[in-house]
Amino acid sequence: MVIMYLQNVLQYCARNSLMAEGKACHAQIIRAAVTIDTVTNNMLINMYCKCGLIKPARQVFDQMPERSLISWNTIIGAYAKNGREDEALSLFVKMQRAVVQDPVSGFTVSSVLCACAAKCAILECRQLHAFAVKKALHSNVYVGTALVDVYSKCNLMREASCLFESLEEKSDVTWSSMIAGYVRNELYWEALRLYCRGQASGLGQNQFTVSCLLSACAGLAALVQGNQVHCVVQKAGVGASIYVSSALIDMYAKCGSIKESYRVFSDLENKNLVSWNAMISGFSRHGRCLQVRILFEKMQQKGVFPNEVSYLSVLSACGHMGLVEEGRKYFRLMVEQHRLSQNVFHYSCLVDILSRAGLIYDAYNVIRTMPFEATASMWGSLLGACKNAGNLELGEIAAKHLFEIEPTNAGNHVLLSSIYAANKKWKEVAESRQVLRESEAVKERGKSWIEIKHQVHAFMAGEREHPKTREIYSKLDEVMEEMAKLGYKVETGHDVHDVDESTKAELLRHHSEKLALAFGLMTLRSGVPIRIIKNLRICGDCHSFMKYASKTTHREILVRDVNRFHHFTDGYCSCGDFW
Ligand code: ZN
Ligand code: ZN
Repeated sequence: MVIMYLQNVLQYCARNSLMAEGKACHAQIIRAAVTIDTVTNNMLINMYCKCGLIKPARQVFDQMPERSLISWNTIIGAYAKNGREDEALSLFVKMQRAVVQDPVSGFTVSSVLCACAAKCAILECRQLHAFAVKKALHSNVYVGTALVDVYSKCNLMREASCLFESLEEKSDVTWSSMIAGYVRNELYWEALRLYCRGQASGLGQNQFTVSCLLSACAGLAALVQGNQVHCVVQKAGVGASIYVSSALIDMYAKCGSIKESYRVFSDLENKNLVSWNAMISGFSRHGRCLQVRILFEKMQQKGVFPNEVSYLSVLSACGHMGLVEEGRKYFRLMVEQHRLSQNVFHYSCLVDILSRAGLIYDAYNVIRTMPFEATASMWGSLLGACKNAGNLELGEIAAKHLFEIEPTNAGNHVLLSSIYAANKKWKEVAESRQVLRESEAVKERGKSWIEIKHQVHAFMAGEREHPKTREIYSKLDEVMEEMAKLGYKVETGHDVHDVDESTKAELLRHHSEKLALAFGLMTLRSGVPIRIIKNLRICGDCHSFMKYASKTTHREILVRDVNRFHHFTDGYCSCGDFW
């Protein structure tokens, strides 16, 4: 009788995570019983696990004479949940060797799979998959879902999707896991398509799936789809969720619609750190430095303290606008006022701010004295700045490091050789060109995307694969002719190819964003803004091309490059030519 009473107390403690009471109850049980039976032991393990006390749970487990399936499941699950994947996996192996009366359940396998997902243990995952097939557990919906999750977290999308298709029974969690997997692997269209399929087979809406979809739309800069998901959000009534609303703010900002982004943000009643950060980073991406700083102050007035992410947006906004003193101030405030520690990204922003302002020795000093190993992006900022300043001394140092970190990036060789050229060191120019020719270094190919009628068209620089190639090129010629009248000239200084000037001009003419723009002009009716995504930083020539194009064609043009947004209207860009 006493034991039964104590069992009830134990379960109550487990449900409510009552640590002290649970321990006291354990003591009572030891006093009341000579030997503790398996059921009570399992309850003890469960209580300790629920209270987050894995060590005593394991002690109880280790002292048990005959352990049941539930004992194994509970302890393995606890290890997996508490980030101790190695123990979970090794216990699972032990469990296989131990004689467990009951057959292994789907629950055990799926919790061990969670452990595999967390540490990306592909080999173990495949073994478990084989094991599940052997035990006829692979069609179990929990196991199947866990497998889909593991494969997609290990970036094995083909395995994940094959498995997903083969599952007869799919829960909402299965669908969500697969959609999230696509988003994580940047397969955004696949995510959206799967969602539509899920809709047809009755998939319910939840915060998780909707946030994933919004990330997919953000990744594609697909505003039309993003708007549709926003409608779904409103219908399903999940808009109040802080995750969904932050994802909405982020999606609109990344799709170039900063106004809409701000509208969602303003309408939000309970703003937390995530929502403030989403809005601040949106403004930063759009180069709205003033708004960034205003919001940054405002959030603190409202009692929300900035974290590392907020500071990163503020610093990068200062970089975009060339605000050196402000940048330095925020960098200091981070530590002095908010007791945060600067990570490598904050340092990278600082180096960038100083380099852009031409303070190359200051930038170099930061690199030298910071507590991290300098990254390629830091040396890259410095090298770029040295090129602008014609500084050979630091340029050579930066280039030397870059050649080590990214030996296949041809851009670095070209930058260095143009510094030599500016200093009239012709022998070195010839030598570095020679090194470049003999090395494996390649320039990453520029690629741009434009979405027309729910279909994404991708263009590579100089490509001629598109079915409308002839029309595109002649449209481009036509636009350029118009622009030439206003004074546009191809700026060959931006090309890094080792070829003569006329070939350079030819290459620049057909940079991918120019092709995408020509195609956009052909297919989108007038008045519709043209949105282009680019995989690299937009070059100086394309930037001035877009400015002229926005004027001659009277179009609003949005280019999202790898760093930020450029919003071209009537001959001007929102970045103020500072990017
Ligand atoms: Zn270009
Ligand atoms: Zn711009």
